[in-house]
Amino acid sequence: MINYPDDSLNAQFPPIRISGGHHFEAEVLRIVRHLHVGSHSRIGNYIVSQILVNDDLREGVRIRNPHHAIHNAITNPRGAVRDSDQPNSTRADLLANPGRGAGATIDYFPFEWPQIGVGQPGRSRDEILLHELVHAFMIQRGISSVRKLDRGIYAHRVRRFDIVDDFYAVMITNVYASETSRGRRQDHHAFSALGRNAMSIASDPRFRPFFTALASHAPGLVTVLRGIDTPFNPWHPRMELIDATSVFDDA
Ligand SMILES: [Zn+2]
Repeated sequence: MINYPDDSLNAQFPPIRISGGHHFEAEVLRIVRHLHVGSHSRIGNYIVSQILVNDDLREGVRIRNPHHAIHNAITNPRGAVRDSDQPNSTRADLLANPGRGAGATIDYFPFEWPQIGVGQPGRSRDEILLHELVHAFMIQRGISSVRKLDRGIYAHRVRRFDIVDDFYAVMITNVYASETSRGRRQDHHAFSALGRNAMSIASDPRFRPFFTALASHAPGLVTVLRGIDTPFNPWHPRMELIDATSVFDDA
């Protein structure tokens, strides 16, 4: 097992723990370091930094080796007492009443994903890991919502995010993708390219509850997102013409 950062010995400043043999640990360390500093992404830097400064050892994050391709990457809460990883989500407020937070364990096999900067939108190994670290960030803060979106009351384009948590993981990773000159992922199904600009996403009435809830329950994160000027950022959209999807609300 190794720690990131490797000189972290302070229990009040818990590291990200990486375990699963030298080859795995060295590669995951390389990817975490890239997300944190090497990529020069402001959102990558913020998510990793905030996981590290969460100052509660019970809410530490571990990344472990599944030892084979799992055709996915999975983040589970650890030590969550009475759903302390989750908000008491309502339709009106998707992140209402946050829990106290919990730790997270990430199962991630870097070698099954394309290299940094390569592959379909959202599918490179750094994008896959950042997506899971966003889940871990939300779990730490008690705002990981597993509210199901694949229901008839939601528009088709909302249903394709599966759960509330994955709207945030996909869209925040899309900001990272923009900062690193990568394509954007449409939703949580497969790895299709997003054919809409940031203004279109930000002004879509069906997506508004996600932006409203994050602003009130993760204000620090939203302040950072609003300060990032990059071609795709629904928290800081550039002035562009919007497409028909958000104007004709029938999809
Ligand atoms: Zn996810």
